[in-house]
Amino acid sequence: MKKFDVIVVGAGTGGCLAAKTIADAGLNVCLIDRKKKEEIGQKVCGDAIGKHHFDDLGIDYPVGEELERTMMGVRIHSPDRKNVFEVKGERLYGFIINRRLFGQRLLKDAIDAGATLFESSLVLEPVIQNDFVTGISAKGLKTEEKLKLFGQIVVDASGYSAVLRKKLPPEIGVQATIDISDVCVVYREIRELKEQVSQPDFCEIYLSQEWAPGGYSWFFAEGENNVNVGLGVAMSGDFPKPRNQFYKNFLSLPLFVGSSLIDAGTWYDPTRRPLDCMTGNGIVIVGDAACQVNPIHGGGMGPSMRGGASAGETILEAIEKGDASRDALWSYNIRYMHSYGAKQAGLDVFRLLLQGLGDEGLDYVMEHRLITEEDLLTASMGGDARLNITEKAVRFFRGLRKLSFLKKLRDAAALLKRVRQHYEDYPASAKGFEPWRRRAQSLIEEAERWQKQR
Ligand SMILES: Cc1cc2nc3c(=O)[nH]c(=O)nc-3n(C[C@H](O)[C@H](O)[C@H](O)COP(=O)(O)OP(=O)(O)OC[C@H]3O[C@@H](n4cnc5c(N)ncnc54)[C@H](O)[C@@H]3O)c2cc1C
Repeated sequence: MKKFDVIVVGAGTGGCLAAKTIADAGLNVCLIDRKKKEEIGQKVCGDAIGKHHFDDLGIDYPVGEELERTMMGVRIHSPDRKNVFEVKGERLYGFIINRRLFGQRLLKDAIDAGATLFESSLVLEPVIQNDFVTGISAKGLKTEEKLKLFGQIVVDASGYSAVLRKKLPPEIGVQATIDISDVCVVYREIRELKEQVSQPDFCEIYLSQEWAPGGYSWFFAEGENNVNVGLGVAMSGDFPKPRNQFYKNFLSLPLFVGSSLIDAGTWYDPTRRPLDCMTGNGIVIVGDAACQVNPIHGGGMGPSMRGGASAGETILEAIEKGDASRDALWSYNIRYMHSYGAKQAGLDVFRLLLQGLGDEGLDYVMEHRLITEEDLLTASMGGDARLNITEKAVRFFRGLRKLSFLKKLRDAAALLKRVRQHYEDYPASAKGFEPWRRRAQSLIEEAERWQKQR
């Protein structure tokens, strides 16, 4: 039996930031991962991350081998690919990183700060005593040795697996399961093209429900002639396999002719609002395990790092007070909602809005600039979705017998604002949580009803 101040499960982007923040203050932190040390950071990923996350968190930009490419902006293709919105500028600068080396840097930062790494150790479940999470049980993957670790507070940063969250009893106050129709199953390939792409400094996003039902598709240049390309499909109803969609649609584009496959893989991305509550007695949930992902493009490295840093700060305060209760950890929820969660919840509605439009509606919206490049950028960064609905647009939708849909579009843009505000108004203590949760649920149900009625 080993004792720590804090146990962090998962040494991904979220877990490393949590461990470093806590270890920096001199506390005794254990970071535990099922991967071997040198494999930590290696993951099926689009490898793109916004510069603003580094600025906000005070983390050094990637350089040297860790940096594959610097990005200037995003090009968004309409479903019929006749229109491309090009958006660039400081707010959209970003990096394509070498995922393993970036992960190794974050791990080194946590270890250098004093965190103890348990590598190749599979965490099995939380230890719960008197309604508090007090530790974890694990198994050494090389040694088969059974392990029990105890801590004042435990962090679940195990990514989509959410190994602890899924095993929490209801009285802890964190929802154990999420609706899988809010999760995308994502297929990604690294390919070498015959020729370099024409605009390698832009992230290319393809909007097409036909290609990626309920999800998204991307194409990022990586290094010289390599590209990181993939698509995610929402696991809703009888959903198609993303690999089949990828080969049928994406790979039929002329630029892939003669290309060769370097790497391929599939994993999951919870593209939705964050969990309503991410704290319980003795436990905090971070990153993908807490659904801290941008619902529009599935980017989760930045949000998970924000979550990890906020969790770390809150845990330090709680330990200082000698109180590991849900109440003492509550301010983590508020910190995260204010730094990213409210934007994320608005974007969840924006996602439903885009899906509700369908490919035909979206083609029209982009062709006739019902939403401009600047407004699309603002909305996709979590701002208001301003629509520019003209008389001509009204006539077009009347012709399609979708006039009521246009009204719904306006309603959806207003709903986005209300949802974001609701998350900004996150309750100051656990006492106000239940009415807040019910209201959040009813707002999301309103958005889902709107989307289904299209
Ligand atoms: C195909 C794909 C493409 C993506 N593209 C992008 C992108 O371009 N940009 C972006 O920002 N985000 C992207 N994402 C999302 C991003 O990868 C995640 O949001 C981010 O990695 C979340 O970080 P995390 O720390 O929560 O989890 P992870 O990085 O997944 O880390 C979790 C860690 O927990 C460990 N672990 C899991 N279970 C256990 C267990 N039982 N015991 C011990 N350890 C365990 C894992 O080994 C892992 O190291 C993409 C996701 C997918 C699937």
